[in-house]
Order: sequence, then structure tokens, then C-alpha cells
Amino acid sequence: MTANLIDGKAMAADLRTRVSKEVRNLAARHHIIPGLAVIQMGDDPPSEIYTANKKKMLAETGMHPIDHRLPASASQYELLALIARLNEDRDVDGILVQLPLPPHIDSHAVIAAIDPAKDVDGFHPLNVGRVAVGQPALAPCTPLACIMLAKSVHLSLAGLDALVIGRSTIVGKPLAQLLLGENATVTVAHSKSRDLPVLARKADLLFAAVGRAEFVRKDWIKPGATVIDIGINRVTRDGRQKILGDVAFEEARSVAQAITPVPGGVGPMTIACLLANTVRAACARFGLSPPPF
Ligand code: NDP
Repeated sequence: MTANLIDGKAMAADLRTRVSKEVRNLAARHHIIPGLAVIQMGDDPPSEIYTANKKKMLAETGMHPIDHRLPASASQYELLALIARLNEDRDVDGILVQLPLPPHIDSHAVIAAIDPAKDVDGFHPLNVGRVAVGQPALAPCTPLACIMLAKSVHLSLAGLDALVIGRSTIVGKPLAQLLLGENATVTVAHSKSRDLPVLARKADLLFAAVGRAEFVRKDWIKPGATVIDIGINRVTRDGRQKILGDVAFEEARSVAQAITPVPGGVGPMTIACLLANTVRAACARFGLSPPPF
């Protein structure tokens, strides 16, 4: 068997088209142009690339990126004061603080300071709690992307055995909650889990969010499973820089039914989900019904 590729790039392009259409509707009917404040502290090179990409895509979908740069030496007080101003700013629908933050900043305090209604990353404890109890919320973008990718293969995830490897607060835990919301039977594995290959071989849906290149091998995968690879690992192979996922792609492809590539899978869909969340936040702020995506 050669697995079908789940084309995250194409799905992301399609979602961006739907987001653009909604943005045009908001402008035409309500004179609203959703604005997203992107805060970057310091000049971490991968963060530079991520924020530049997010701002470009925001502009391409007709939204308004609002750039805020702080030096790596800025104090937590300065960052919290900026967030407080953006919380009150009527032109700002969403606030994104690019992570990681410098070590002297308490990222929990920063996330908790964002107005939950503008928390387009879905990291605020109120949104985390709402996702957990199944209430409408701004859900985090990468887990949302994973659900959409899995549902491009399975119309319904109900009753499927899902394994999430990784329990971080930004990926593994919220993904497990969203999967429960889809009525999957969910197992969450982490570094203390025993018999990981045995757990993995039971999974109809395998989500890898470990941060270790090619960690999941062929013989861990149930024949016919759907594999969603969240990992982004920068490695040097044969003297060349490469980005690898958490799954040994070529091996896994011969066993799985469907698999996301890295790059070109979860990554582009995560950004598209951020754009969708920005429109969701703008609609909610102006008392409009949630957009149809
Ligand atoms: P974290 O480092 O926060 O979490 C990694 C998780 O993997 C932890 O729960 C850890 O367990 C678990 N783990 C580590 N080693 C093992 C092991 N040997 N066996 C089982 N579990 C293990 O990472 P993130 O969740 O932030 O990110 C995971 C990956 O996803 C990274 O490669 C990251 O770059 C990528 N990523 C991709 C995104 C995208 O848009 N495509 C967005 C966000 C992340 P424990 O809790 O016990 O330590």
C-alpha cells in the first residue's frame, strides 16, 4: 500500500479562499476589516520567518496586520502594557504573541493578559477551558488544523481510536480535547508512556507531536491508519539542512492509508486556521454569526 498524501498546502489555499470571501463580505456589509496585532519580541530567526509569513497571508486575505516589535531586552511590564493597550484598541480583533519569548518573560502571565475574545492563538486559560467543556471558543490553530486534515480523510472521526503522542499545552492536550469533541476514543502518550509502539499499532488515527525527527517508525503504524505529522525538526543530513517530521515518512507511507507530508501538511493549515480564527474573533466582537468555516 502507498498512502494517499494529505495535501495541507492545497487545503490551506482552499481555506484561505473561504476566509478571503468572508473578509470581503464583512467589508461590504459591515465596513469591518479584521485587524490582527502581531507582537514579536527579539529577533529569533524562525520566529522572524513565521511572523513574516503570517502577516503576508493576513494582507493577502484582505485583513489588516498590525506589527509590534519589542527588543529582546524589553521588560515584562512593557510587554504587558502593550497587550493592555491592544486589548482596548477598537481596531484590533486579534492579538498574537509570537512564542518563544525571552527567558526573563513569564509566558503564562503574558497569555493570561490577552483579552480571551482576541486570543486568536487559543492559548488563554478561558479558551482552553471552553474547549475542554465543549463550549464555543477560539481553539488553538495547530490542533484545529489537525482535526481538519483528519476529517479530509474520514467524514466522521466518531468511534475511531486516536493516539496523540505529545501532551504540550499548545498541541497535544488541546488536540486530545478536540478529538474527544469529535467522539474519537483518545489516548495521549508522552515521555513516560510505556509500550508506545503497542499503543500506536492500535490507532486508526495517529498524531505525532513529539519534536523528534522520524521518531515514529513503520512497524508502529496500524495498516490503513491515518497519520498526521505535526513535528517540525530542523536537521542536517548529508551536509544539507532539512526539515523532517516526527514520522519516518517514506517508511510510514507504505503502511498508512493517508499521511501528511512535512513540510506541506500541518504547517500551512495552521496559518490558515489562524486567519480563520481572526475572522471568527472579529465576527464575535461585532455580534455577527460565526463564519461558515
Ligand atoms: P513540546 O516539546 O512542548 O512537547 C513534546 C511532547 O512530546 C511532550 O509532551 C513530551 O512528553 C513528548 N515526548 C518527548 N519525548 C517523548 C518520547 N520519547 N516518547 C513519547 N513522548 C515524548 O513540543 P510541542 O508540542 O510544542 O511541539 C511538538 C512538535 O510539533 C515540534 O516538532 C514542534 O516544532 C511542532 N509544532 C508544529 C507546529 C505546526 O504548525 N506544524 C505548531 C507547533 C508545534 P513529556 O510531556 O513527558 O515531556
